[in-house]
Amino acid sequence: MISTVQDPLEQINRILYDRVERFGIKITVNPGFSSYNDGNVSKWFFDRIPSYHIYVRARGEWFLKMIFIHEVSHILWDIDTKSNPELKIRFQRLYIDIWRSRKSIFRVLSEGFYSNDYEMGHPESSPEELFCSLHTLMRMYANQNDSKSNLLFLNLATIMRYIQSLRDGLEIMQKYYNLDGIIDRVVEKQSYPFIPMRWLMFF
Ligand SMILES: [Zn+2]
Repeated sequence: MISTVQDPLEQINRILYDRVERFGIKITVNPGFSSYNDGNVSKWFFDRIPSYHIYVRARGEWFLKMIFIHEVSHILWDIDTKSNPELKIRFQRLYIDIWRSRKSIFRVLSEGFYSNDYEMGHPESSPEELFCSLHTLMRMYANQNDSKSNLLFLNLATIMRYIQSLRDGLEIMQKYYNLDGIIDRVVEKQSYPFIPMRWLMFF
């Protein structure tokens, strides 16, 4: 259902609405423009009902959208890892595998690598942040076919050659968040012969 909708904001709103309906959670959003990009999400309880407050400040609409999706990803992590422990397990494993392999891989899995703000995203901080950055990147770029989107999928294809648990993470993301076709797109990029050279360029 969601995959037929192209706009990432609309997709994420549908997912959020589903969680609101199913779990009765409350969500408030405080968006605004600012010269620097910033966002966070806080949680508290009213009569045992979880309430989340999203704060977003961004330089423009595009960043506003991206940061909002990142913060929503934190809410999804908070809710969905309870009903689906496998989600947490897979991202914990992926997080450890990247640390054991090359820490610099985190850089190409952060939003900052594909935007004009290098400070965006910090997937190296925790499995949760890794999930949020990767989920945000998938929402923003999976339906695109521009150079940044292609670079992202080429990077994923390269990383997946070394780290199998990336596939496990993307697979569960594809399944639970209606991101149809992301695995196929990565696999397709794996057939590109110039990947090893690009790999050397990045790290
Ligand atoms: Zn975060």
